[in-house]
Amino acid sequence: MCRNCKQFHRCLNLDEAYQNFFRRLKDGKVKAGFPKFKSRHSNKFSYKSNFTNNNIEVDYEENKIKLPKLKWIDSKVHREFSGEIKSATISKNPSGRYFVSILVDEGIKELPKIDKEIGFDLGLSEFIIENSGNKVPNPKNLIKNERKLAKLQRQLAKKQKGSNNRNKIRIKVARLHEKITDTRKDFLHKLSSQIINENQVIVSEDINISGMLKNHKLAKAISDVSWFEFTRQLEYKAYWYGRTYIKIDRFYPSSQICAICGTKNIELKNLKIREWTCENCGSHHDRDINASRNILKEGKRMLA
Ligand SMILES: [Zn+2]
Repeated sequence: MCRNCKQFHRCLNLDEAYQNFFRRLKDGKVKAGFPKFKSRHSNKFSYKSNFTNNNIEVDYEENKIKLPKLKWIDSKVHREFSGEIKSATISKNPSGRYFVSILVDEGIKELPKIDKEIGFDLGLSEFIIENSGNKVPNPKNLIKNERKLAKLQRQLAKKQKGSNNRNKIRIKVARLHEKITDTRKDFLHKLSSQIINENQVIVSEDINISGMLKNHKLAKAISDVSWFEFTRQLEYKAYWYGRTYIKIDRFYPSSQICAICGTKNIELKNLKIREWTCENCGSHHDRDINASRNILKEGKRMLA
């Protein structure tokens, strides 16, 4: 707790911001920029404590966590871990729940090498479409809750500022938002881990973040965020476990080339065509499966 302002989260963060600022100045990076203050209206609070002298501990039996200055506190421990504790970040989310996330150095070991490879296309109605023809749908409860959230947000917009009703809906929105984030995170982690476990070479398209930010359609924006997070997870998990993850140029026309004979069919620029037959070799294609087969091929070409 800060003696001056009695708000320890913000002071610690501020201190860190200033330290970063001075470090950047010392490094000779002139464009260090002044530290940014978190918005007064922001509803996210967090602070980080580094591990020293066993100040952070977890007791799985008793479901308790020891945190610096707070001593042992009751908590719900979600996942057991082994390894060296590096730091703990304590945060309070908009609906008023407290979270502790602990950074651990687990000393991860690479997985034994295997022969399998995978290429996949990122879809809208399905989350991914694999070259094998397997399609992984978006979780149903996720879609349902996202619709519910959109409806609640419209309700919220109509309520008078400062009213009790508005506050009630605001908490509902925050809770549902958290639920959606948790479901999505869980889904993405399970899928990325499974793909990394089962394949030595993994190929996908590159997701362009600047293009993402320009998009204002909600459904598209949500899936963009998930894809970006998904490719990010694949990248670091591949690195951890000794797999090869390749991202191919997003301008590569994976949907327009016949994966069997390589003939290009520009009619496929029309996104409405979901199935087609190659004029050259007569192969019949599902648009997305054909694309993911080309993605794998292009990735392997780059690797060679
Ligand atoms: Zn063909």
